[in-house]
Parts: sequence; C-alpha cells; structure tokens
Amino acid sequence: MADVWLRMVLTVLTQITKCGDGKDTSFWKDHWVGEMPLMTKYPRLFAAEEEEDCSVADRFQHQRFNWKWRGENLRGRLEEQKICLEEDLQNIRLTAAKDKWHIPDAPNSEFTVSWFRQMAWSLESFPTQLPDIWSSWIPKRKIILAWRVLRRRVPVKSTLADMGVDMHDLLCPLCSSHVEDVEHTFIKCSWAESLWTRISQWWNIPTPNFESILGIFEWIDKCRETELKKEIMKTTIIANINLIWDHRNGVIFDKKESSIDLAFVRLQDEVTFWIESRSFKYRIDKSFWFSSPFKACKM
Ligand SMILES: [Zn+2]
Repeated sequence: MADVWLRMVLTVLTQITKCGDGKDTSFWKDHWVGEMPLMTKYPRLFAAEEEEDCSVADRFQHQRFNWKWRGENLRGRLEEQKICLEEDLQNIRLTAAKDKWHIPDAPNSEFTVSWFRQMAWSLESFPTQLPDIWSSWIPKRKIILAWRVLRRRVPVKSTLADMGVDMHDLLCPLCSSHVEDVEHTFIKCSWAESLWTRISQWWNIPTPNFESILGIFEWIDKCRETELKKEIMKTTIIANINLIWDHRNGVIFDKKESSIDLAFVRLQDEVTFWIESRSFKYRIDKSFWFSSPFKACKM
C-alpha cells in the first residue's frame, strides 16, 4: 500500500492540470500554467494574496483579472511582478469544460480533478509548519505514514466520513467506545496508550500527557537533549505510529489481535534493526540497550 502511495506522490509531482473553466484549479497552488505553480514562481505576490486557496476562475475570467491583495494596492517590486504574472497569463483561454488533471504516463491521461483529489486526498496539502520527521535511520514509507498522520490524512472512520464516505458507524474498531479519529487511534485508544506508556518506561521518563502526534514531535524538538537522543526518540515514535496503524488494520481486515507485550518487543526489535542497519555512525550495546537505550547507542 505504501509503495502505491509513493508512486502516486511521484506521479502527482510530475503531473500538470489542464484548465477548463478554472473552478476546480487552485490559482496559486496547482501547476496549471508555465513550468511551476504560481506560488513557487511568485512567492511575494502569493504572500500578498488575500485568499490563498482561490481558484483560477476566482482570479481570471473572460480574459480579465480580478485581484484581491491584502491591504492596499501593490507597489514597487510587487507591482512589477504582477505585470510579469499578467503577461504569463495573456494566452490563457478558459473554456466551459470541467478542469482535468493531465497525467502524461497514465493510460487514460485525463482524470477529473474531483476524482483525482479523492484518490490522492492524502496529498491535497503539503506540510507547511510541521516538525522535521525525516531521518536516514527510518525507511521512507514508515516516515510517510507518520507524515500522513500529522496531516490527518489516514483513512480512520471520522476522516472517511468527512470525505463523504457513507460509514456504517464511527466507533473505533478496537475499543468500540469512542469515535475513531486520528487522536483516538494513535494516542488515546487503550492499546495505543499502553504502548506509549511502555515507551516512556523504556526511556525512563514520566509518561507525558499528549493530545496529538504533533504534540509529541514538538515536545522532542523542544527537549534539551542531545541530537542522538532525539534521533532515537524520533525513530521510536515513527516505528510506534506504524505499529499502531498495522495493528488497527490487522484487527479490521485480518481479525488479528496482538498483545501489548508482543507489540512492544516488535517495536524494540524494529528500532534496533533500523539503527543497526541504517546508521553508519552508531552501534548498539545490546547488554543494556533494553534498560538504558540512550546510553547503549554509541559512536
Ligand atoms: Zn479505541
């Protein structure tokens, strides 16, 4: 599944929108004219835009521009950039047809935007102010799941219902006592909560009371700890997010329950394996890795 998702990321990064009536295409964020999205080409103008999610149709209709800038009219460099932008758009003609995505390598190279958005809903928005979760110690597809959790782009029941999918019920498939949203699944559900407690015991720190996955990463960012310790923490957290998701899917799709003890052993094994096989600088002293992980990982 993660591989499919990765392929989709690559596809989306190389595709371009074919503009019809401009109503389904983001003026600034989609790649619909020229060699890149307009927010990338004209970042200052984008910063001055009043509604950053406006569509092409909102700003450009019947060959006339309908600008909405923050505050007063543009001056100086910004005014010059606006003129360049208007030149870029002078040959654009909108039509009455619906906007489509054009994907060069796909067998049927056009899809409607709404269809594609639904398929690629996890990609709709890119992270803006998210903590740094990238690490060479962690396999990419594992990081990508964590990234999707941070963006609330994992298909838990409440998210699917928000997308208009008709759900039979919204209850968590593990405990059946709360609505299944991202926070519940990854933090509050008793299975997940027990794993987080085990991790804090392993790390020898009191269990912090987190409300969100974002909160956990922000807490690490602010910790006055060594970079090595933070890296081990980040690696463990991302392994745990993946483990919780796998367990949840195992229960739903394979009717497979797993005990906390077993899951925690699996988590520790995975973190150990990632560090040993992917970190060139550090080695793990197994004699006390399971009691004092931060001391057992050395250059
Ligand atoms: Zn639950």
